[in-house]
Amino acid sequence: MSTRNIVYIREFDRFDKMGNTLCRNTGCQNFIKYPFRKYCSKECSKQFEKWYYHNFYWDRVRSDIFKRDNYTCQICKKNYPYSYRKKFARSRRLECDHIIPRSLYKKLGYKFDSLENKVKTITEFLHNPNNLRTLCRDCHKGVTREFLRSKQDWNMQTDRQLIIPREI
Ligand SMILES: [Zn+2]
Ligand SMILES: [Zn+2]
Repeated sequence: MSTRNIVYIREFDRFDKMGNTLCRNTGCQNFIKYPFRKYCSKECSKQFEKWYYHNFYWDRVRSDIFKRDNYTCQICKKNYPYSYRKKFARSRRLECDHIIPRSLYKKLGYKFDSLENKVKTITEFLHNPNNLRTLCRDCHKGVTREFLRSKQDWNMQTDRQLIIPREI
């Protein structure tokens, strides 16, 4: 599994049986319409891109979490400076932590074998805001060290119940 876990936007390209390109927006059954190359309309293009970047684009997901947590480490409660690059907040001192570690995805029954499963794994687990929090670098290191030490316990107690359902 790659570290970024991005579902590439081109994976959402759809075609009918004749090979004609359908609008990329999930649930839309229209063909693409000029001047759009991947969508039937401006609305579908806007809607899909919003959904895509909100859920699958890590820089954006992380930026949302930093903002939600007010750029404050959720363990030591220290506040750190941040800046914006290309509309996304970033900070030299802050990192975005997976509360239930990413590496446990298989244990939780998540898969990366099909687009449907990738979308599910990412929206329910990897990029689920309920499973993400802002930590400073030092606290993040501490948490990671602690996890590696107690890996055995995690393996024992891990089941799907740990994931807090996400409202979409
Ligand atoms: Zn459409
Ligand atoms: Zn901290």
